[in-house]
Amino acid sequence: MDLERLYYKDAYLKEFTSRVVSCEKDKRGYALILENTAFYPEGGGQPCDLGTINGIKVTYVGEKGEDVVHYIEEPIAEGTEVKGIIDWERRFDLMQQHSAEHIVSGMFHEKYGCNNVGFHMGKDMITLDLDKEITWEQVQEIERKANEYVWSNTECVTLYPSEEEREHMEYRSKKPLKGIVRLISFPGADMCACCGTHVKSSGELGIIKMFSCQKFHQGVRIEMLCGGRALEQINIQLEQNKAVSNLLSAKTAETARAVDRLLSENQAVKAQLIGYEREKLTSLAQKHKGEDTVLIREEGLSPDSVRNLANMLMENGAEGLCSVFSGNDEDGYKYAVCQKNGNLKEFIKEMNTALNGRGGGKPFFAQGSVSCKWSDIENFFREV
Ligand SMILES: [Zn+2]
Repeated sequence: MDLERLYYKDAYLKEFTSRVVSCEKDKRGYALILENTAFYPEGGGQPCDLGTINGIKVTYVGEKGEDVVHYIEEPIAEGTEVKGIIDWERRFDLMQQHSAEHIVSGMFHEKYGCNNVGFHMGKDMITLDLDKEITWEQVQEIERKANEYVWSNTECVTLYPSEEEREHMEYRSKKPLKGIVRLISFPGADMCACCGTHVKSSGELGIIKMFSCQKFHQGVRIEMLCGGRALEQINIQLEQNKAVSNLLSAKTAETARAVDRLLSENQAVKAQLIGYEREKLTSLAQKHKGEDTVLIREEGLSPDSVRNLANMLMENGAEGLCSVFSGNDEDGYKYAVCQKNGNLKEFIKEMNTALNGRGGGKPFFAQGSVSCKWSDIENFFREV
């Protein structure tokens, strides 16, 4: 145990004084080593602390052998007495998320025999990977139990058992450990070897909220948050639901049903539109029956309809080029050009060059778009 690490004596220490042992420039900035520190270095799944040392911003804290290295933006002379201030909001949030991870992992392990095989503290969401498949109902069950544990306000206990003592103890650990080990116990929920910082008692977690559970590798990935972050995320999702509720004039508890109804209506309207468009295409194709070469400009057709109309013209018996353009001079035109048994490869290449277009397809059928005026298209086809 390194006694210079003040966060092990008191994880709630927000300010401390110390003396500079060394300060050297390297690629991350100025690497500062102090006689003692309350800054937690990145490790054990917990991101590092940030803050200031003598008012100078700390950008990263890591470990180098036994030392804790603080990276700062300006140098401080060796031997200087310094005052360190921890970014407490950040640290407390990390302590909350990290402690919640212990409790939840311990409960999943106890109830379903699965292991925490990955933990990531993202900016917005925290993910926990388990090595067994777990259902959403099981996740909700653990959420309920974990929150009951929060309300019980149980104290977190730190133990330093010897190797011998540990032989008779049950605890979670990612690897076999030798010598004295720091065990973090949330009695009744979890016991785990850990070098991180934790809250004093479970009540400080406020709330543990699960957001999703997705299949991941051999097991699942769970999204969860606790404390202030949970409140923030719940509010974000609540606002979204409120907005949907206002837009659809539905009660907030009935938005899914309202969206479902809207989607059904939308589908029916789409089907009707497809019917109308098909009728329109049929009558257009009919109008040009008997013509050998056809060039049609029609506003507002979907790419599918442009293709279908060109096909219909070809199937009508036209032997020459059947070309359909849909769009306008500002936004350009979608096109479909085809010819029964034709080889249009070169022709389409030329057309794309002349009309500032792109696209291609099979030898007898090409699709794409052009950025030009209708008069350019007419002129090009006049010369064919
Ligand atoms: Zn821990």
